[in-house]
Amino acid sequence: MDLHDVAPVLVEGRIRIPYRWPAGRAGGRFLTLLRDEGRLIGLRCSRCRRVFVPPRTRCLSCHVPCEEEVGVGPEGEVLAWTVSRRASPPAVLALVRLDGADTALLHVLHGVEPTAVRNGLRVKAVLAETRRGHITDLDGFRPL
Ligand SMILES: [Zn+2]
Repeated sequence: MDLHDVAPVLVEGRIRIPYRWPAGRAGGRFLTLLRDEGRLIGLRCSRCRRVFVPPRTRCLSCHVPCEEEVGVGPEGEVLAWTVSRRASPPAVLALVRLDGADTALLHVLHGVEPTAVRNGLRVKAVLAETRRGHITDLDGFRPL
């Protein structure tokens, strides 16, 4: 047998890869305030004044530091949405721009049928009862 003449064989499988990594300064501050105080914050670019949520330490456009912390939400509006049929029951996922922010946060939209979701829908953040310093400390959003 010549190992150089073997046709490729594909083996299918699934690999579960648990991971942990630091959230970074901005992400760490965001998650800590969310966990400990139930507050949502963004960081404002010192040049273009855009407020990033989740917070970023550098502006995506200007590439200058974003250092001014700004309280945002807890209300906001749906900019775009989709339905994930991988969840059971299907979950509505929405990009929500919190009041005071210029960017959107992707999260679950509760309490609304997919046929009733529309862009511009006003929503409010719902905090998880038990918070542990993870994005799921924000349970999602509900229509106002
Ligand atoms: Zn900027």
